[in-house]
Amino acid sequence: MTGENFSYIPYGRQNISDDDIQAVVAVLRSDNITQGPTVPVFENKVKEYCDSSYAVAVNSATSALHIACIALDIGPGDLVWTSPITFVASANCALYCGATVDFVDIDPLSYNLSVEKLAKRLVIAEREGRLPKLVIPVHLAGQSCDMKEIAKLAKYYDFKVIEDASHAIGGEYLGNKVGSCEFSDITVFSFHPVKIITTGEGGLATTNDCKLASKLQLLRSHGITKELSSMIGESEGPWYYEQLDLGFNYRMTDLQAALGLSQMDRLDQFVSRRHHIIARYNDSLANVPVVTPWQNPDSYSASHLYIVRLDKKNTQSSHREVFEYMRDKNIGVALHYMPVYRHPFYKSLGFAQNGCPEAENYYSEAISLPMYPGLSQEDQDKVVEVLSSALGEK
Ligand SMILES: *Cc1c(COP(=O)(O)O)cnc(C)c1O
Repeated sequence: MTGENFSYIPYGRQNISDDDIQAVVAVLRSDNITQGPTVPVFENKVKEYCDSSYAVAVNSATSALHIACIALDIGPGDLVWTSPITFVASANCALYCGATVDFVDIDPLSYNLSVEKLAKRLVIAEREGRLPKLVIPVHLAGQSCDMKEIAKLAKYYDFKVIEDASHAIGGEYLGNKVGSCEFSDITVFSFHPVKIITTGEGGLATTNDCKLASKLQLLRSHGITKELSSMIGESEGPWYYEQLDLGFNYRMTDLQAALGLSQMDRLDQFVSRRHHIIARYNDSLANVPVVTPWQNPDSYSASHLYIVRLDKKNTQSSHREVFEYMRDKNIGVALHYMPVYRHPFYKSLGFAQNGCPEAENYYSEAISLPMYPGLSQEDQDKVVEVLSSALGEK
């Protein structure tokens, strides 16, 4: 903390109630702190909330993305496309499987993967015989991508779709909850503490496909089954289980599931509180030289992030200066995200640094302001005040 007499305001943080704590303590005092009864109860709760047929809980969204790719048979020689404006995990999952990843530029309004650009790229890819086997749209800031259009393209060009909904539990698209998988094969959520609900670390995949669900269940636990009906051989005794595939230990613990289950009770409350914060930001930033976020009328955003863009024509301050000024004043502004292909690891793979002009524009202007249910009005006013003084009046 620097010399100021107010404390650091982060860009996001968890909201933990006494009920949450009691729920975790109850599991701690029980027989099973992992592989017990609470994980399936949590899975059922999320499944019912999202109106999907299946839910498979794991230890992170990154793990969920990884086994979702494997379940969809992604491997060496396959192409996977995603948005450059995302957390690295959305792209890394393809590389874990030995597939090749590429980025489709973003839409200038929603900052999500552009369906228009996707359609154009697909025409070219078909001509070149290099169609993707999987596309991973990311619901940036909790606002759904245009899934109906993406699903049409998926059908026509025969690719699979994983929704990276790490920001989006509690959101809706065309009247359905994100996670219903109406327009995708699998949807993935993250329960990291900055996200909408938390399990500490944790993630979950929803799907309506029974075979995919079984595959995900197998892969999260070493590829091992203890169910007779799934076994290939004859049981050799009560000790017997079989490894059927090369899986991982990606299990969620019952401690985590208890926290998630308890948090689910307040999910809608969290999201509506976030909408309230958005409305207050939108009002109080009306005369500040920033572009406030666009709301897609087809979607009810889970509102994970509040991202503004610098209106460069109307301020002397540079993007970097605004970040430095605000961080110096204990405001935890963040940038979601630097385009993935700019990371040294991706550069080393030879990614073009000029292929996504909208993503580049976005990267030079975007600022995530603090946004979480517990953000007080006082702190929010402070954020606006500091941002205004960083930029000057319009
Ligand atoms: C947080 C996040 C992830 C990874 O989530 P973990 O649960 O931390 O593994 C993946 N994709 C996006 C878009 C995220 O924001």
